[in-house]
Amino acid sequence: MTTLGSEGAPPEGADADSAGPPAVELDGVTRRYGGTTAVSALSLSVREGEFFTLVGPSGCGKTTTLRLVAGFEAPTQGSVRFGGESVTGVPPEDRDVGVVFQNYALFPHMTVGENVAYGLQFSDPPGGGSEAARVRDLLELVDLGGMADRDPDTLSGGQQQRVAMARALAPGPDVLLLDEPMSALDAKLRERLRVQVREIQRELGITTIYVTHDQEEALAVSDRVAVMRDGTPEQVAPPRTVYREPATEFVATFVGDNNVLSGEVTAVRSSTDSDGGRGQSIADVTVDGTTLSVGLDGEGDRASAVPSGDRLTFCVRPERLTVDGDRNALTATVTSAEFLGETTRVHLDWDGRELLLRTEEPPEGTVTVGFDPDDAHIVGGP
Ligand code: ATP
Repeated sequence: MTTLGSEGAPPEGADADSAGPPAVELDGVTRRYGGTTAVSALSLSVREGEFFTLVGPSGCGKTTTLRLVAGFEAPTQGSVRFGGESVTGVPPEDRDVGVVFQNYALFPHMTVGENVAYGLQFSDPPGGGSEAARVRDLLELVDLGGMADRDPDTLSGGQQQRVAMARALAPGPDVLLLDEPMSALDAKLRERLRVQVREIQRELGITTIYVTHDQEEALAVSDRVAVMRDGTPEQVAPPRTVYREPATEFVATFVGDNNVLSGEVTAVRSSTDSDGGRGQSIADVTVDGTTLSVGLDGEGDRASAVPSGDRLTFCVRPERLTVDGDRNALTATVTSAEFLGETTRVHLDWDGRELLLRTEEPPEGTVTVGFDPDDAHIVGGP
């Protein structure tokens, strides 16, 4: 690959303030279409060089958010800023953004090279080189060196999508916007292409906002993820945080599988040996007559706000349930199992509730599963 850009993206979990200035900000942005609110009081700050992903179910406002950033839509309320400057009223072609949509729409009557050169129709090649050199460098960047003279319809879907990316990158935009760019491709190709997209983004160090409904894709490629619901993000955090410390029940169940349980707090106490460690803060939560221990250390502010008598909702990932575990033991019946290769997803019935277990060696019949209090994470409550 040819180096066309500068610094790489900040590492995952990098501090919001230290990792670079905000490249794109949305401040209290609402977008209504008649009676439909597509985006609702949305505030986000995307850092320079960051790979930032909007993920969420269909209709949650991802595409509208991207279109607001691109300038194809104007906010009903609120403002969009690039590098601290308002872009209200600035048309898309003057925003220095490159956009790649799901239907990448290459021109069939143009060669691959001509398609990429089309991206330069409104501007000269950045850096002052020739158009031909720019096209060659970009095709090398997207791993299609030597394919400039091919017709688009002789390329695979993944290759065509990379041509679309090269075209979007041709004028050297400050920000790259990708809207479900892989959704028309098959699963294996998507996995390969997402790695390539990430590599290209890192090589250029270009601020990128990526839209997908695929939570696995979002976790795999992003520096940070905004999990959207009903036009607003429920959590904005690095992938590991979103997975391990979901902020809400919606995030807990949208991002990966989860067991969500809700009950009444019957005691807040210090852990004993039988909890698997002494002196940690524990809430005893009674769920339908069964008392379960939920670790409060590491729960931040939420832990200090857990008085007895309140309802608490917490989650435990299926891979954190252990078979024959003696802590927080639940006796359940196996109802079905899905073999997924590396692990099996086992569906359990615990007193009429469905629990999920992920394990390499699936049990059958009646089974006792348990979990460490520290593997329970609070997602809602007092
Ligand atoms: P998907 O994953 O299905 O593409 P999305 O999260 O990208 O969904 P949006 O396309 O942003 O969601 O749409 C958000 C809401 O706004 C939806 O209810 C949609 O029907 C509505 N909406 C979007 N564009 C328009 C429009 N031009 N006119 C009317 N309603 C619209």
